[in-house]
Amino acid sequence: MGIEAVNSRIADIQSRMIAMQTQQATAAKTSSATSTDPASGGSFATALADAMGTQSSAASAGPAKSYSLNGKGIPTELVGYGNGKIPANALEKVGNTNHKLWAPAAESLNKMISDAKAQGVTIGITDSYRSYSEQVDVARRKGLYSQGGLAAKPGTSEHGWGMATDLDLNNKAQAWMRANGEKYGFVENTPREPWHWAYKPKSV
Ligand SMILES: [Zn+2]
Repeated sequence: MGIEAVNSRIADIQSRMIAMQTQQATAAKTSSATSTDPASGGSFATALADAMGTQSSAASAGPAKSYSLNGKGIPTELVGYGNGKIPANALEKVGNTNHKLWAPAAESLNKMISDAKAQGVTIGITDSYRSYSEQVDVARRKGLYSQGGLAAKPGTSEHGWGMATDLDLNNKAQAWMRANGEKYGFVENTPREPWHWAYKPKSV
């Protein structure tokens, strides 16, 4: 083999190596693009937005909205936010008060109060949804229930899911609640706290 042939062979090999390196670089670029390309992230975001959009459009549709609770009785639409970390617009006002609960609980409580009123029974609301920081505050002021106090461990309160209300009840209203509360999904489930009514509907 002459020197020219050797040089030509070397040039050939070099060009093949360059071609292979280019291919590898392209492949690497493509694979990294698959995981980090904004377009692919975008499609996940779009899918998520679509899923969320379906939920919120269903919410605005009113009766068409389907609600559900998970195995622990927590609304599936709220569980992702975390206890005491639910944005105000994910909850619903109780009537024209400033109290907020999970939408079905708010609606049921509102109906219960008006039905009671029609029967001459006055039910007031003392507390409803409670943010995490408010739970911390209540625990500091009233002590932990487990230690003889009246507050749930912050981050575990039923109030933190918009699933409990504290009611202002006179004796007549307390008796009315014990007779009728369950029809509206509200149950007295905490000893030493006759004002605390948790929303535990048989179905939603
Ligand atoms: Zn309570």
